[in-house]
Amino acid sequence: MKTLPTLRTGQARVEHGHISPIGDVEIPFGIVEGAESGPYLLVTAGVHGSEYCSIEAAVRVLRMSPERIKGTILVLPILNLQGFRKRSIYVMPEDGKNLNRMFPGKPDGTVSERLAHWLVTSVYPLADAYLDLHGGDLDEALAPFTIFPNGCEKSKALATAFGLPVAVAAGGEGYTINAAYRLGIPSLLPEVSGNGLWGEESVGQMMAGIERVMHHLGMLAGPVQAAPQANPEFVTMWVPSAPVGGLWYAEKDLSEPVAAGEVLGEIRDVFGAVLATIRSEKDGFILYRLTSLSVNQGEALLGVGTPLEG
Ligand SMILES: [Zn+2]
Repeated sequence: MKTLPTLRTGQARVEHGHISPIGDVEIPFGIVEGAESGPYLLVTAGVHGSEYCSIEAAVRVLRMSPERIKGTILVLPILNLQGFRKRSIYVMPEDGKNLNRMFPGKPDGTVSERLAHWLVTSVYPLADAYLDLHGGDLDEALAPFTIFPNGCEKSKALATAFGLPVAVAAGGEGYTINAAYRLGIPSLLPEVSGNGLWGEESVGQMMAGIERVMHHLGMLAGPVQAAPQANPEFVTMWVPSAPVGGLWYAEKDLSEPVAAGEVLGEIRDVFGAVLATIRSEKDGFILYRLTSLSVNQGEALLGVGTPLEG
């Protein structure tokens, strides 16, 4: 099959299979439609093929019973299927590019650019809301947070509904949720778990957030598990990258507060000589960090969450 089947049939149903939207790249999909009409929620995961908590949560969403929901959920649980099979970090093995930097993509580009283009032109425009599920990759640890497009109130409301303790307002181009926001679709990128780990606790945390969003959208009758707090802490994220390659020694733990000027970590050579000292430019706290000892020049080292003004 080249393209997705009809999303709204007016009949309660579950449909799943594989599609080949861009030539020889095959991806799985699932549709769950309730008998009653309602919003269309798009859920994607596996943009990063080794973020297993997000993939397992998406797999569970496509097993939801149509009797429970109003409207339609389209789930694309593993967008980067080759990356999943090869356990690759960040990139699509077909072209070595990070799909979550390629949006809005190109119709005649490389595999990740064409996949992004297909999503932006054929999938995103139909959605009433969009969740792109992530979690720390094999080399990243994080304390759970959501990311929403800065300035989009409806996306910010999704972040509040999802209910993770921290929500990051993000600008920038190239990202899934940013491309969807440009089409006017409220979008949210939850990050749960890290180092590729997944289990009942982390998948359950992701599922509880998805169900709260579905309840918020009127797709799922209550009660749903309440969020641990009424509102997340809203922040922006500052991400220093490695000025040089070497061995990475972080000096701060997840969620630990940091002050501007404080040392966040060092990059050393194999004999212990300090090649670079990374200092915070912001007051805030640690959202995520690279846990790999190996770091290459230009790679993100960590994220500092800085409380939003007002
Ligand atoms: Zn990711």
